[in-house]
Amino acid sequence: MKLFSYKNKKNVTNFKCSCCGKIYDEVPLTFGSEFPMYYYTIPQNEISKRIEYQKSLCVIDNHFFHRVRLTIPINDYEENLNFDIWTTISEDNFIKRNQDWTNPNRINNEPYFGWLQNEIPTYENTLNLEIITKENEPDIIPNAFIINENHPLYDDQKNGISFKKAEEIVQKILKEYHK
Ligand SMILES: [Zn+2]
Repeated sequence: MKLFSYKNKKNVTNFKCSCCGKIYDEVPLTFGSEFPMYYYTIPQNEISKRIEYQKSLCVIDNHFFHRVRLTIPINDYEENLNFDIWTTISEDNFIKRNQDWTNPNRINNEPYFGWLQNEIPTYENTLNLEIITKENEPDIIPNAFIINENHPLYDDQKNGISFKKAEEIVQKILKEYHK
């Protein structure tokens, strides 16, 4: 885990997608999933009946999900790589999250356990990895931490990655997006 971050912004003026040449002002470093994987298994005509969805919370049948931010530190850059993804959450903790939605003291809540509900691009087999999430201030989604020590995502989150590796990941993700 990175204890402190160096202000060491590289002199990157813009970023070019290797698949199509699209130019970005800055390297895109935050990616997200709109829904937990389970959402996509629900037939279109049952969505309104079976799914409740709002701002980073989702209930499908009796399954509870919330959106969380998984950050991979970039050791030699001032920003990190972020994935805003979904995990399961217990009903009790889901209720607690709702009750504490605007409560600034929620940062003191015990972490919530859950199973990751998305595939994180370029990392294989991330569905159902075990996650704990730690509340943030209101308006900021919780931070997610992988606890499966034998998964590459665990190592990268714990040790951080180089800017070069982050760029490689971003290029691969954009290539998928731009298909
Ligand atoms: Zn492209």
